[in-house]
Amino acid sequence: MMTKKLPRLTIVVPCYNEEAVLPSSAKTLGEILTKLIAGQQVTTDSKILFVDDGSHDQTWETVQTLQAQNALFTGLKFSRNYGQEVALMAGLRTAAPYSDLTITIDADLQDNPYLIPTMVQQAADGFDIVYGVRNDRSSDTWFKRTTAQRFYWLMNKIGVHLIPNHADYRMMTRCALTALLRYHETDPFIRGIVPQLGFPSTKLYYKRRPRTAGVSKYPFSKMLKLALNGIFSFSLVPIRAIMGVGSLVCLAALVAFGWLGIDALRGITTAGVGPIMASLWLLGGLQLMALGIIGEYVGRTFAQSKHRPAFIVETDTYSNEFAQKITE
Ligand code: UDP
Ligand code: MG
Repeated sequence: MMTKKLPRLTIVVPCYNEEAVLPSSAKTLGEILTKLIAGQQVTTDSKILFVDDGSHDQTWETVQTLQAQNALFTGLKFSRNYGQEVALMAGLRTAAPYSDLTITIDADLQDNPYLIPTMVQQAADGFDIVYGVRNDRSSDTWFKRTTAQRFYWLMNKIGVHLIPNHADYRMMTRCALTALLRYHETDPFIRGIVPQLGFPSTKLYYKRRPRTAGVSKYPFSKMLKLALNGIFSFSLVPIRAIMGVGSLVCLAALVAFGWLGIDALRGITTAGVGPIMASLWLLGGLQLMALGIIGEYVGRTFAQSKHRPAFIVETDTYSNEFAQKITE
């Protein structure tokens, strides 16, 4: 009988001030992974990797306690808060050399973790990417749902095809992950990059649950930052819109000049500061807007050209353990 090589799975969990939910989330994820190991669907050294994104509470202490209790748990600690997307990239980069499959999931388990076994099965069935998609967001606030909906609509309009209601709950096989890791963006917008990778993929639908403890780590400012990041790092539409608006304004000015010329020939002269002031303000505003948008792109080029490290890892028990295994 041919024995199939079991995949080694790493579940990457970004955590920012998650002391309130971490013990119960770790318990649930631990149980799910233990079952997968017992069912011989993944290797016995599969892991749950917590990425502490510079928490100010007891998150890292909790991760350390978990590690001490059970070899399934391991951790990575940032020196400061970098944001969820960077934490995910860090976890994935760290896990990549040792993982056949990776799954990313939020620490609060709002996204149904009981789908993890199905994701693993779908990898065995030949899918390289499985997207977790929320088909019921009633647990999110009205504001969050509406802004998210508008955001997907806008992104689609400007030619960025995101998977609606998919955030960062997804499974990736080694080849999909290797491709993702070739993106060295300073501010990665992972949910925008992954659909561009190609590879056989499928979607898994679930109802998003409310947080069991703690509060959302996404205040409006962070949501806005993520959304702008998605727009400006994926689309040239805003900069082209400036061209469009600029052309229209020029055309309008030409018409106005023509009009004034004809009037002058007929001996009519128009007076008054009102129209002059209005057009000055209009043009001034448009120029400022244009400069702002150009600045956005220049700023991004600047940030990227510096090749700063995307993150700095303080402690990494995951790599240490596997590196030791290899040298043993
Ligand atoms: N998160 C993070 N860094 C941050 C903000 C959030 O690692 O700066 C993590 C957080 O701990 C959680 C996930 O990202 O695991 C999603 O955050 P949250 O559940 O607060 O977002 P929401 O579900 O409200 O959109
Ligand atoms: Mg959440």
